[in-house]
Amino acid sequence: MILPPSSLRSLNQVSIDSSALQVNFSILQQRIGRETRIMAMVKADGYGHGMIQSAVSFARAGCDCFGVAEIGEGVALRRAGIQGQIFVLLGFVPSQEQLFFDYDLTPVIVDHQALELLSLAAVRNGKELAVHLKVDCGMGRLGIMPSEMQDFLAHVEGCTGLSLAGLMSHFPMADNPASKHTLEMYQRYKKVCAQSLKQPPALCHIANSGAALYFPETCGDMVRPGIALYGYCPDGAKGRHDARAEGLIPAMSFTTQVVQVKSVPPGTGISYGHSFITSQETKIAVLPVGYADGFLRTLSNKAQVLIKGQRARIIGRICMNLCMADISGIQGVETGDQVVILGSQGTETITADEIAEWMGTISYEVLCLFGNTNERNYNQTKIEKK
Ligand SMILES: *Cc1c(COP(=O)(O)O)cnc(C)c1O
Repeated sequence: MILPPSSLRSLNQVSIDSSALQVNFSILQQRIGRETRIMAMVKADGYGHGMIQSAVSFARAGCDCFGVAEIGEGVALRRAGIQGQIFVLLGFVPSQEQLFFDYDLTPVIVDHQALELLSLAAVRNGKELAVHLKVDCGMGRLGIMPSEMQDFLAHVEGCTGLSLAGLMSHFPMADNPASKHTLEMYQRYKKVCAQSLKQPPALCHIANSGAALYFPETCGDMVRPGIALYGYCPDGAKGRHDARAEGLIPAMSFTTQVVQVKSVPPGTGISYGHSFITSQETKIAVLPVGYADGFLRTLSNKAQVLIKGQRARIIGRICMNLCMADISGIQGVETGDQVVILGSQGTETITADEIAEWMGTISYEVLCLFGNTNERNYNQTKIEKK
């Protein structure tokens, strides 16, 4: 039997608007100025949007630099035909060093062993490799402590085949426009740069989305936005209403379809544990989406979804593959109707910021969760250029 491909698709679909990704890149590039390069962060499978497809969209908008966590991701980007510079931010383990040469990837270094391995590989390959160092000026995470920098610089200097092409750091609080920490840390970082990088054209890069939007004076030679490229602000709904983030378009939506509509009498317990009991006759829509699809159990009796352009509350426990929406106030719902979990329907919108609030987390986690748990499809809306 030959089935149309659409009949094998999951009822739960994550849709990515590729034009939104392109618009977001262009907006950021415009805001920070043409002289400042953008390293598009596409780690975690492009924050759930698909690493390769996102990189292709950003490249179409003019992006020539990408950031990934692991070296395998960098290799996958190259194999997909992505050009430009690709930074591997989380380092590597022995035996992976050859890949930097085979796939023209740029390593970010935080320990001495990496320098040794890369230097040996550079000699073996007869190729020079440009490396970036990561310094911890106040993040308290990955990176060389400023007090260790002199040792590292001497080591790089002594490594045949390696050259120092840049110095990066990372802000822990740039999502808070009111925090003094960001500019204080930036001063510390600039000092390390001035002491470490004698000859240009070494690159300094420290700004994430928060810094690019709220602390433009920290943008330096290059910025590394992630969340803003996907249409969200690092400080959630607050940022959405900030003029500095104007125009960013959320690229992801998540939909399912109704599989049953029914009415239950007052006093009916809904789903496992009967955590919700109807107080009146209630019309419910049964939805084929649950915690296995990233619609987490913690959203039980909290989340809302859109059906026929109206908000409906999720009632009762969310199961592995099912949940129930109260549609008592919504007319004409039928099996097969589209239900929006994330995104817009009619004039209503549910954002990842709103879902994050219900979940007690941030939009980043919602996007990674939905996007990396479900089937994704891609489309291009026609967005009018202003
Ligand atoms: C993820 C990441 C970024 C991007 O952060 P956003 O808040 O998503 O803009 C920038 N730099 C580093 C080192 C990162 O790990």
